[in-house]
Amino acid sequence: MSLVLQVDAERWRGHLKAHAAAGPGLVPVAKGNGYGFGLARLAAEAAALGAGTLAVGSPEEVPAVADFPGDVLVLAPWRPDHPAPGPGEQRRVRTVAHLDALEALRGSGARVVVECLSSMRRHGIPAHEVAALAPLLEGLALEGFALHLPLARPGGRPHVSEVTSWIERLRAAGLPVERLWLSHLTPGELAELRVRHPGLELRPRVGTALWLGDRGALRVTASVLDVRPLARGDRFGYRQQRAERAGTLLVVSGGTAHGVGLEAPKAGGGLAGRVKVLGAAVLSAAGWSRSPFRVAGRQRWYAEPPHMQVSMLLLPAGVTPPALGDEVEVEVRMTATAFDRVSGLG
Ligand SMILES: *Cc1c(COP(=O)(O)O)cnc(C)c1O
Repeated sequence: MSLVLQVDAERWRGHLKAHAAAGPGLVPVAKGNGYGFGLARLAAEAAALGAGTLAVGSPEEVPAVADFPGDVLVLAPWRPDHPAPGPGEQRRVRTVAHLDALEALRGSGARVVVECLSSMRRHGIPAHEVAALAPLLEGLALEGFALHLPLARPGGRPHVSEVTSWIERLRAAGLPVERLWLSHLTPGELAELRVRHPGLELRPRVGTALWLGDRGALRVTASVLDVRPLARGDRFGYRQQRAERAGTLLVVSGGTAHGVGLEAPKAGGGLAGRVKVLGAAVLSAAGWSRSPFRVAGRQRWYAEPPHMQVSMLLLPAGVTPPALGDEVEVEVRMTATAFDRVSGLG
């Protein structure tokens, strides 16, 4: 009936353990749809890994990880119009990325991580404001500084030098740089930083590479809910289009409510991939879209745009249709899909 994320638990947890063992200080990130697994599930897995801190995206996500026994770092920068730190929040660590937010928190004793502006240019204290930081940190529990780095590395390996410049800039301003929270560094870059800055505690914040780092442990399946022979000229669906040729109409689980959209995941790079994208673009301009559902070894065309909980696919005549109740594989973006069920994790 449902769109299911099937997890090979032993393999998946083996990957999580190997990732955690590869270097100290791992901070698992659980945010959004919990990378397909759900926030509470990731909190439990992070606890089982022995992580001392779990990062969530927003303050609204904190209740979903309430069972996590350690500290919870909120990645979204705290703003003065957000709720003020209250009693009973000793385990909450706030990210602060603006001087006015530090001013508003000053003296509250709140635990804060100060985000510095990286080449992402997203959130962070810019270099020219560093001189203003020291007095604003009075009466706050400084848990360290943070840098969120881009995924791309134009011109080689700039992350190590970007992080090093920030360490030097903060120290030059008389700030205590003892712990650094970092996003999107490779294990090699982290190792290099550990050699260059002995005594500095590095806390890599990792989501995708941890939870989705071994895609072979994960399988997404839909079920075949109905199978209807279609004669040329038959009308079908919400839009009452006519079948241009004979075939089979398949009804499968997975629709817009699951985040299954008209866009199938993009073909890979390279010329062949681009030609495929171009071909698909021409067909979609003509009202056709390739679905993310794989039936009999191939991605199949939508019969019409996905419905709320199911999709209708066209199978050409000559392809043996699956049976009612069969499983079909679906290619989805894990961070944009709401599964009905996660199976295999007990
Ligand atoms: C989402 C996020 C992460 C984790 O990103 P992944 O690419 O999923 O590892 C790390 N740091 C920050 C600041 C984030 O917002």
